[in-house]
Amino acid sequence: MKHLSILGSTGSIGTQTLDVVRMHSDSMKVEALSCGRNIDLLEKQIREFHPRIAAVCDESAAADLRVRVADTSTSIFSGMDGLIESVTLPEADIVITGIVGMIGIEPTIAAIRAGKDIALANKETCVCAGHIIMPLAKKMGVRILPVDSEHSAIFQSLMGRADSKIRKILLTASGGPFLGKTKRDLEHVTVKEALSHPTWSMGPKVTIDSASLCNKGLEVMEARWLFDVDVDRIQVLIQPQSLLHSAVEYEDGSVIGQIGPSDMRIPIQFALTYPNHIPSPAEELDFFKAGRMDFLRPDTETFRGLPLAYRAMREGGSMPCIFNAANEWANACFRRGKIHFLEIYDIIEEAMDEHVRIDSPSVEDLLAIRDDINRHFDEKYM
Ligand code: MG
Repeated sequence: MKHLSILGSTGSIGTQTLDVVRMHSDSMKVEALSCGRNIDLLEKQIREFHPRIAAVCDESAAADLRVRVADTSTSIFSGMDGLIESVTLPEADIVITGIVGMIGIEPTIAAIRAGKDIALANKETCVCAGHIIMPLAKKMGVRILPVDSEHSAIFQSLMGRADSKIRKILLTASGGPFLGKTKRDLEHVTVKEALSHPTWSMGPKVTIDSASLCNKGLEVMEARWLFDVDVDRIQVLIQPQSLLHSAVEYEDGSVIGQIGPSDMRIPIQFALTYPNHIPSPAEELDFFKAGRMDFLRPDTETFRGLPLAYRAMREGGSMPCIFNAANEWANACFRRGKIHFLEIYDIIEEAMDEHVRIDSPSVEDLLAIRDDINRHFDEKYM
């Protein structure tokens, strides 16, 4: 039996995790749920999955929920302390970090310290605090199991080959809704267009990041930490049909990859059932319908999020956090219609150019960087 705590249970990863649990209720039990403020959905989840505890980041929403579920046996917690309570619950043995953004840093670290395995979907935490969480996980003897589809594919391609030498990691990208577009085309794209992802169903933040290729930039940095490889050994390939979810090229020239349907429930489930593949809620892949698998070089002149991410990772220290914090700010601002799509890159670049790099930033440093970035750009653009 796996005992789960789901951080971000009302989001895209959280709801898909619960799909997986529904199918495997004989071997998976939900012990804790948590969300930002969507208590309508959280209440439904509490009534269906009967967790011991649930946490809501927003204090007043938590107070509301406490009244609504007074007839159940679920205890309600609130704020960052509540999130931490939910991921350190003694009865849970694995935490699915389905929360978006740097808000995941503190609960992820708390969960690792409490000895929980991590099914990591919160890539921003890995990007900003990889230098903290990876050694800590090793020290605590906990597993960091990737949920991001590409990293799950890489993880699977590495299984059982500990003594083989890697030439490179081939990180695939669909290219998003703006594949093939020029800078000129992108000047006036709308939020709605950016949210129309051709192959994956994901939350709004990651969907915009996919359109800008900032998501792929974050994933390069995530892969650097998860698999302990130099960024220059990570090559991004555009694979528009999203069939090959990523691969590893070994020194002898062999390429081992993972192919499957574009369904997040597969990598989510694999993180929970590792090392076993068992039936999943996903539909079978029809190769004859899929037909072909193309590979293209990413257009790094237009989609500058990718080269900026490589630069951030090469410079290291606090620079990946700067990239991420500026991107989080720009992404949210674009979604609110306050900036143009291409300004996302200008904002990240400006933040990186102006930042004085810190060598090995602490959690406090990382959170201070985020607050500084938010303040700086709020003043400039609002
Ligand atoms: Mg991904």
